[in-house]
Amino acid sequence: MSAGHDAIYVSPHPDDAVMSAGGSIALDVRAGLRVAVVTVFSRGDPDERTRLDEDRAAARRLGTEWIDLGLPEAPARDPRCRRPTALFAPLSEDDQPLVERVRTALADTSVNARLFAPLGVGHHRDHQIVHAACAALAKERARPVLFYEDVPYALCAVRTARRLDQIGASIALPRPGLLKERIAIARWWLERPVLAEEAPALMLPIAALWAARAEGDCPRAHGDSLNLTEERREIPEAMPDKLSAIADYATQWPRFYPTLDEFRAALAAHAHALGSPVAMERFFRCVEP
Ligand SMILES: [Zn+2]
Repeated sequence: MSAGHDAIYVSPHPDDAVMSAGGSIALDVRAGLRVAVVTVFSRGDPDERTRLDEDRAAARRLGTEWIDLGLPEAPARDPRCRRPTALFAPLSEDDQPLVERVRTALADTSVNARLFAPLGVGHHRDHQIVHAACAALAKERARPVLFYEDVPYALCAVRTARRLDQIGASIALPRPGLLKERIAIARWWLERPVLAEEAPALMLPIAALWAARAEGDCPRAHGDSLNLTEERREIPEAMPDKLSAIADYATQWPRFYPTLDEFRAALAAHAHALGSPVAMERFFRCVEP
């Protein structure tokens, strides 16, 4: 993997880094930093070729280098992951070789680069794997690591707090209780167009509850906790670039929001709920204990 980057944004799939941290990417590029987006799981989707083109186009638009690790995504590795109960389930020992493979690949990137990695909000298996690989690098003190809130999952407000709890992070955000969280997550799924692709109309409420339950039943992780501090980056001037780059993922954003305006409004509502009057992205930086 080529060296000399100042910032590396690790994306479990094409689209995650841009949807979650596209404003920060744009600001880093404007500041003259050498930025790369590393996409980890990019093979096996029926739209694979189109999705790779979308990812390349978004990287070009934002002015970053694009690095494709080319690993198969969860449903391509294991057909059981076509069901939400498996796709959002906790990792097991069987996943460790893949975590190690991703860790090794990322360890080869510029050692002094800041690594922006998924927090794993929403609990998608591939996001958990990339998070675990980057958490290992953070614990080795191999480089500075900042975890981003995974969008669109994090736009359901209860989820970031529950994810921090699940990974045993030192930082705790207020949680409303498991039942309220599950209801909020089920309602969020119910409003996502992607659910209607997966389930017949009459089954939608049940499918939403299943997805919420799969995520809700995750036990708290064992092992060393991460020492995190919250950081916010205001991105109003980078918002047009971020939205244009999100628009490049034409196979993906409509699965979550019917229009880009609704996507933009959901991002704004999230920032507003966190007390920010302007567009903002939230990160959790790993610090010395
Ligand atoms: Zn993803």
